[in-house]
Amino acid sequence: MLRLPEFTLRRPASVREAARILAGEGSRAMLVAGGTDLWPKMKRRQMEPRVVVALRQLRELRGISGSPDTGVSLGANLTLRELERNPMLLARYPAVAEAARSISSPPLKTMGTLGGNLCVDTRCFYYDQTYEWRRSIHFCLKKDGSTCWVAPGSDQCWAVSSTDLAPVMLALDARLHLLSNEGERTIKAADLYNRDGIHYLRKRQDEIVTSIELPAVQRDITAFQKLRRRGSIDFPILNAAVWIRPGGDGRTVESARIAIGGITSAPFLAPEGATALIGRPLDEDSIQEAAHAARMSARPLDNTDLDFSWRRGVVEVWVKRALEDARARWGTRRDRS
Ligand SMILES: Cc1cc2nc3c(=O)[nH]c(=O)nc-3n(C[C@H](O)[C@H](O)[C@H](O)COP(=O)(O)OP(=O)(O)OC[C@H]3O[C@@H](n4cnc5c(N)ncnc54)[C@H](O)[C@@H]3O)c2cc1C
Ligand code: SF4
Repeated sequence: MLRLPEFTLRRPASVREAARILAGEGSRAMLVAGGTDLWPKMKRRQMEPRVVVALRQLRELRGISGSPDTGVSLGANLTLRELERNPMLLARYPAVAEAARSISSPPLKTMGTLGGNLCVDTRCFYYDQTYEWRRSIHFCLKKDGSTCWVAPGSDQCWAVSSTDLAPVMLALDARLHLLSNEGERTIKAADLYNRDGIHYLRKRQDEIVTSIELPAVQRDITAFQKLRRRGSIDFPILNAAVWIRPGGDGRTVESARIAIGGITSAPFLAPEGATALIGRPLDEDSIQEAAHAARMSARPLDNTDLDFSWRRGVVEVWVKRALEDARARWGTRRDRS
């Protein structure tokens, strides 16, 4: 049985107290929300904080407020279970609920949170292993070693972003609120991520994600699709989220965003794909063109499950499926009105 290393657990009474503890402890400290990523990683010595600052007890991070007509604020401590079942999200931001539903298993979704998911560690064959396994290959650049086994000549880590909710937040152009001892700031979801498997977040270590603002979606449509080996429980090896704003004519696309995750160190937007949809009906031709253009911007690496060249090819298929879901939602809405 793998055991946790020794550490000090701090349970602050407020998010501001959590920020003060982080500022005082510096790089010795890490946050934990649901712990579904952090605890297993500590057991495998992939992460070795001396101090762990718990957020789960903080009710101030749990709320949902606002409305889809003006914008919705989601507390970082909302669990994946709460997101997948929320009637308002299911009706107006279905991609958020779909992505949450696709993550891990029911017990893990009861613990795992939105904030933890957006900050979840990057993954790689050579890193997501026990300490003994990693020691047998002299570790790697991401932790304890000096060589990247995926690209031995490289001084960069290529571990892959594995959050399912991040592409949805990019497609929606959501904003994240961050709080530290120095104050608060708001960033675009797209600006949270860095194309570097080690420093995969652009926020500072002492910054806490407190809430996520979803923009208003009066007529907008969202959809999410995920590729994974096992349908019951698995990290993404590719995911795609789309956001479509129908034009006033009710026939053509006014604006669109396509986001892809699970294949490089950061989730990313594929503007070439989105551009192929603008001013056109969301039909077979425009969907095919957009999916093909999105695929051209995707460069998966050979460090997660399934063959990487095959994964590149199927980006087109998964983006197409997400756009087809969006088209079906648009059609259902037209039928109702
Ligand atoms: C078997 C298994 C399968 C999984 N499958 C999936 C999957 O399919 N898709 C997927 O996306 N994930 C998957 N996960 C990973 C994980 O369960 C989820 O991403 C979950 O949402 C993480 O949330 P958490 O609250 O448990 O994070 P934690 O483990 O508590 O934290 C994760 C990271 O986020 C940081 N953090 C947590 N909260 C905050 C905050 N508010 N502000 C700043 N930093 C914060 C922590 O310091 C840590 O670095 C899986 C995990 C397991 C063990
Ligand atoms: S990409 Fe390279 S450095 Fe990064 S985890 Fe994998 S082997 Fe290690």
